[in-house]
Amino acid sequence: MSQPSSICSFALSLPVYHLFDYELDGANECQAGNRFLLPFGRGQKLGILVSCDKQQLSTHKNIKAVVKSLDDSPLLSSHLMLLAAWLADYYCQPLGEVLFQFLPRLARKAEIMPGTRVQFWSINAVDDELLLSIKSKAPRQYDILSALKQSENGLDAVELRQIHDSWHQPVKTLLDRGLVTKGWRENLPKIVATRLPNFDLTSDQQKICDDIAPLLNQFLVHLIQGVTGSGKTEVYLELMEQVIREGKQVIYLVPEIGLTPQLLQRLQSRLGQAVVSSHSAMTSLQRYQSWDQFKRGVAQVIIGTRSALFSETEKLGLIIIDEEHDASFRQQDGVRYHARDVAIKRAQMLNIPIILGSATPSVESIHNVQKTHFRLYRLDQRVSQSLPPRIELLDCSQIPLNTGCSPQLLQAIKQHLSAQGQVLLFLNRRGFAPVVMCHECGWQSSCYQCDARMTLHQSVNKLICHHCGFSVMLPHKCPDCGARKIRHYGVGTQQLEEFLQLQFPQIDVIRIDRDSVKSAKHFEARMQPVRDAKPCILVGTQMLAKGHDYPHISLVGMLDSDQALFSSFYRASERLIQTVLQVSGRAGRAEKKGQALLQTAFPKHPLMLNLCRQSYSELVEEILQERKMVGFPPFSRVVTFQVDAVELTLAMQQLDKVKSFLSEIDGASSVKVIGPIPALMTRRIGRYRAQLSILANEIKSIRSVLQQLMPKVQGLRNTQKSRLTIEVDPLDL
Ligand code: ADP
Ligand code: ZN
Ligand code: ZN
Repeated sequence: MSQPSSICSFALSLPVYHLFDYELDGANECQAGNRFLLPFGRGQKLGILVSCDKQQLSTHKNIKAVVKSLDDSPLLSSHLMLLAAWLADYYCQPLGEVLFQFLPRLARKAEIMPGTRVQFWSINAVDDELLLSIKSKAPRQYDILSALKQSENGLDAVELRQIHDSWHQPVKTLLDRGLVTKGWRENLPKIVATRLPNFDLTSDQQKICDDIAPLLNQFLVHLIQGVTGSGKTEVYLELMEQVIREGKQVIYLVPEIGLTPQLLQRLQSRLGQAVVSSHSAMTSLQRYQSWDQFKRGVAQVIIGTRSALFSETEKLGLIIIDEEHDASFRQQDGVRYHARDVAIKRAQMLNIPIILGSATPSVESIHNVQKTHFRLYRLDQRVSQSLPPRIELLDCSQIPLNTGCSPQLLQAIKQHLSAQGQVLLFLNRRGFAPVVMCHECGWQSSCYQCDARMTLHQSVNKLICHHCGFSVMLPHKCPDCGARKIRHYGVGTQQLEEFLQLQFPQIDVIRIDRDSVKSAKHFEARMQPVRDAKPCILVGTQMLAKGHDYPHISLVGMLDSDQALFSSFYRASERLIQTVLQVSGRAGRAEKKGQALLQTAFPKHPLMLNLCRQSYSELVEEILQERKMVGFPPFSRVVTFQVDAVELTLAMQQLDKVKSFLSEIDGASSVKVIGPIPALMTRRIGRYRAQLSILANEIKSIRSVLQQLMPKVQGLRNTQKSRLTIEVDPLDL
């Protein structure tokens, strides 16, 4: 071949910080962001071209040549390559792993990407006489022809299969007879358009739109703090329409969408086919289709969870992050990053606006408002004019509970049900009972590979570890002393559901948690009585706290939130406040007045008292004061090094090495070092975990320390026996 070769660097999906060099001959286009098949070890691996070095081959000996290129044009644009490089650098993650995270799952395999258009068949002009004659001779052909005749735009394979399992042969015959034509079309989501109520924006909503609209051509972070039901989504929609009218596209991130098809429907009804989604309940192919349609500009909006942020497009005009305070925006395994913070970076790089919204914005975001980095807009009124309920405490310090419920709570449930209201009970603990013990010797149902107790799941008569999934049958007698005195303690959602069903036999009791709900369809079916406005009781975990709009709930009861008062997790009080306000915000959204009851054995605890008395802004202000006093984020920045190893001593040794690297570094005195210490839950899934944190008041100090530290830390090899992970801005210390 006459074309000169070049040496190119590739990123592989491996937990290593360096790139890999291969020779690329002139026949291959060397474009960054292209995927290549590479020889690796004895096999082959997929790599993404990062950079190309035109230097002479002679300086490199033994360099292998790439096997082949997989893409005609780069899957990742130069903008996303830059964003990935920033993310890898800021969060101290290997570039290869970051880049593969940016690709749709389907593209992480060494395959040529499929086309995302689908074949469809449509009917040619067929007169009724012919149709009738087919009916008697070839009933299957007739069924298909009639269905095609009725369809507006023809039918694809999935739709044809619904008419006849074996549709291939009759369709082929119809094609041969010239009665049917085959074509290709975009496989866009089927829209279940609902009729939208026609209303004008409230003056508060209008004001926010008027304020933001002229600023849509530049990078700014807008934070909308609006109580649940205040119409934030309507404001996003209005601004999105404007961006789309200008020919630009929108990425819309939510913490959870699998269970909220309502939101997708609302967007599609308003914006039409322009909206695609991407979330974990979809197949890789479906997600790739959304990604591809957004990339090609067939769709103008992509709505999805965390990873939808990395959707490719050249015309991004706006990013929206709803429920920005939600912890699910933080990726806790694999590549560790915070989608909200990366989104802000992406918006800044593209000089486009980003809108964050929440009823309970994170403490960081409020702090950023105070520092004038973010602009704050408020919606304090619900659209329905009803006020969010005040939180009332139910003092349970002196009274016995019945399956987690106080007599006052049961009384309130009764009252609301007889007034045709719906009740939501929040208990963030699934299973039947969290503790199983021997009454004789004190044996407990510990997991054999985690420092945790296994939860009783009575329906399957098993003990299940919620951390690793390990399960055993519930023993009849004590494994230690043999006594037949195995008892369970504490209440999980399953037990609560059973109890309430006995208490209120005429009423639907609907449990919503990870055990009872496996899919969106399933969820929708279970929620039918709730939508039908029938009196009913919803029992649920965190799953119910997110974004659902059910206007007939009039009472919210929160059963067991006291743990948060004594947690060592420094964000525990922020989390508690957010959860209580989010959950209580589900009450009284329509004309019905809502009531929110919080059971506690510590009604005099300052946090409990403040929850009833103060507004969210006042509560956050107090948290900020506390954090400032102790020097925790957002008044400091944190990086945590974690090792999980086969033995605790090994984990501690690895971190001691990190600590000794630290001591050799210039400016190390500007950071505070905590640890190494065993993690709170030291043993998890059979591995032992320890951590070392560094804190500094200034991000600059952290950055400078990391820049010197990382090359040394990268020399610590990850093996089966011990693995190091780094978290920048972790949620916990
Ligand atoms: P949020 O996102 O703040 O929870 P939504 O935008 O979902 O609030 O609005 C709550 C409910 O109020 C929805 O059912 C929505 O259709 C309705 N709504 C929003 N804005 C208006 C308005 N200006 N007039 C009447 N109804 C509205
Ligand atoms: Zn025992
Ligand atoms: Zn376990």
